[in-house]
Amino acid sequence: MKKCMLSIIFFGCFVILWPVQSVFSWGFFAHKKINEMAVFTLPPPMIGFYKTHINYLITHAVDADRRRYSNQEEGARHFFDTEYYGLHPFDSVPRRWDQAAAKYTADTLKAHGIVAWHIGRMVKKLTQAFIGLNLDLILHYSADLGHYVADAHVPLHTTRNYNGQFTGQLGIHAFWESRIPELKAESYDYLTGRAVYINNPLGAAWDAVKASFNAKDTVLGFEAELNSRFPSDLKYAFEVREKKMVRVYSEAYTTAYSELMGNLVERRMVESVRLLGCLWYTAWVDAGQPDLALLSNCEISDSLLKMHEQEFKQGEKHTERSIPGHSD
Ligand SMILES: [Zn+2]
Repeated sequence: MKKCMLSIIFFGCFVILWPVQSVFSWGFFAHKKINEMAVFTLPPPMIGFYKTHINYLITHAVDADRRRYSNQEEGARHFFDTEYYGLHPFDSVPRRWDQAAAKYTADTLKAHGIVAWHIGRMVKKLTQAFIGLNLDLILHYSADLGHYVADAHVPLHTTRNYNGQFTGQLGIHAFWESRIPELKAESYDYLTGRAVYINNPLGAAWDAVKASFNAKDTVLGFEAELNSRFPSDLKYAFEVREKKMVRVYSEAYTTAYSELMGNLVERRMVESVRLLGCLWYTAWVDAGQPDLALLSNCEISDSLLKMHEQEFKQGEKHTERSIPGHSD
């Protein structure tokens, strides 16, 4: 009896559902992996430069999430909630920002998420950075662009029910984009072929969001179906992380869900890698294919490093804070 009570007290005090870091984007692991693997899609004139800076691209793959704590504009850039726009959101919402803002107002668009438009903007900024051969900005925008492209590929970033909070599936966000990649992503096949030029980056971003939307019901529906028949005592496991006992979805449940969805997480991650490589390449081509070897003696500036340091500190300080958009 005593032992039983101790167990209850122990778990009551220390067990938390893992991961808790984020419900507004792919988990850290997946974001970093996507930025890393996109480097290997690039053609010879680019790949040397990107390989040299691959650690920067990996390390700063999640800066955009941290920036939510210092920049009020940031939250809307990571998702597109479709519900406000009716049953056929992709027919209702013009793909061009000026046309969409004229129809709905810019504030309304921001309230429901602007990820596709922001990807379009980031490609233009990256193009300008290549034109100016600005090392800081090329790396900064390349890493950020990777983040937004990855977020656009997450089906739960297209719905207000982003964490299953309206369907009794609380925690599905981190399950889908953190737990599954953590357990499975090392074995994914990231070979997507060489990056190609994209005529319409904004259109490609919208296509990615639409494909995510089309997979949203699979993500939610299949988990509900699996949950209804899976032995409840096998659904979770306990692991020690950062000296805390945490409750995680078990490997058996994770594998069953992943297979039921036909490896959807792998397909969306790999598609993220492919599109990211293409958009980096497109920005470089649009900039006139500058010689990146000219940057080989340049170093990242102190001011950029300081900015990252500040964002990191603000992100660490405010891990509990609620932010408008896809957060608790
Ligand atoms: Zn995000």
